[in-house]
Amino acid sequence: MTTDATAFPQEARAALTNARLQGALNHLKEGFQVKRAKAFDAYPIPFESLREQGRAIKEAALSQLDELLLQFEAKVTANGGKVHWARDAAEARDVITRILKESGAKTVTKGKSMVTEEIELNPHLIANGLTPVETDLGEYIIQLRNERPSHIVAPAFHLRRTDVEESFREAHQALPSSRVLDNRPALVSEARGILRRHFEAADAGITGANFLVAETGSAIIVTNEGNGDLTRLLPRTHIVVTGIEKVVPRLEDVSILLRLLTRSATGQEITSYVSFMSGPKHADDADGPQNFHVVLVDNGRSALLGSPVREVLQCIRCGACMNHCPVYGAIGGHAYGATYPGPLGAALDPGLDGLAKTYHLPFASSFCGRCETVCPVKIPLTKIMRFWRNESFSRGIPASSFNRGLKLWAWAARRPALYRTFASLAARVMRMIAGKSGRVRSLPFLTGWFIVRDLAKPASESFQSQWRRRP
Ligand code: SF4
Repeated sequence: MTTDATAFPQEARAALTNARLQGALNHLKEGFQVKRAKAFDAYPIPFESLREQGRAIKEAALSQLDELLLQFEAKVTANGGKVHWARDAAEARDVITRILKESGAKTVTKGKSMVTEEIELNPHLIANGLTPVETDLGEYIIQLRNERPSHIVAPAFHLRRTDVEESFREAHQALPSSRVLDNRPALVSEARGILRRHFEAADAGITGANFLVAETGSAIIVTNEGNGDLTRLLPRTHIVVTGIEKVVPRLEDVSILLRLLTRSATGQEITSYVSFMSGPKHADDADGPQNFHVVLVDNGRSALLGSPVREVLQCIRCGACMNHCPVYGAIGGHAYGATYPGPLGAALDPGLDGLAKTYHLPFASSFCGRCETVCPVKIPLTKIMRFWRNESFSRGIPASSFNRGLKLWAWAARRPALYRTFASLAARVMRMIAGKSGRVRSLPFLTGWFIVRDLAKPASESFQSQWRRRP
């Protein structure tokens, strides 16, 4: 597993021959695509109209983001909480560490949060003498294995049951070695027992937020395991860490977005838990944290807001684009080497991490467009990837033979007579190379391209010349 997106070509090639990973990826269709399709079919009105509403809500929210965030902050403050603003990952990490130290926290439970992955929070907490424990089952498993999520909804999607058993036996050595762990319920039960002790001992809890509501100052999370509620309610201090783009004006907006999110992500009408977090425990509340903080992370989002790719900020992190992407389906999430894999990552990572590190990702697409046809908020993902490709080319990133080749091709394509001569010459050479087999399997200057592809033998006469001969 790499955290270097510049190694994408090598990592993708390795993923294609990783039999264990390929086995897991076979479940994408059954596990996600079929469930989503059934949920859409069962929806009482045409789902397209719901997608359009979702898109409009997110687009309108982005166009008044500054006002909504200030309204959200005022409400959280009125509710007894505190909002912190972080310009980048380093500032976010520092704010969170300061809150934890000031509250005297040592152990920290965490709900699933891709933003905390993005800002690389866990290593920073550990370096500062704190002990973060992931409590979402998938996140807990990959934390034990020192890995990163391979999917934004199902972080341990790439692992088999036997991998999890192996990790649990290694990590939970205080438990009897003779215990039976050869089935999923046994693994879940063991994780539940271990995590319950962490929940009881935690001084602070950190969660993400799927949505923020400006009119009420609420952060909302959806979970299926209930770990989010135990993370936010049991410790003295609760910190919500989330991106600034998550805010929408009203609770009513969330009711639309929730319908889209859960159906698109897991094919559920609604998740087991939908938790609304609006501040610390009040005198008449049965439970809740004494201190409530929200850390609003920018980390490149403001710059995206004013760019031609601002629609990527509409994302509600459902994962449907990766579930339907032939490239993600062939290589999984780790090969991308960035926080967000798949089409979402190809559109978002260059904006967050910079093109110099992520220039391969917008090219990791067949441009079939399935990602944007399933996106619940209708983000034009291929248009955004095309934008990054153009940027990459015009900035000369990387200054490679690929870019020089494209320039040469563009030069020739603007000279039709020359282009036709080249094309006819190339076709003749390729016909000779293909010979009787009828396939071109390698060319001296395109060795990489032919590793996983071949070409049909070109026709003996070009389309244009046949067209010119037509009666
Ligand atoms: S880009 Fe669209 S489909 Fe992909 S995770 Fe975001 S909302 Fe879901």
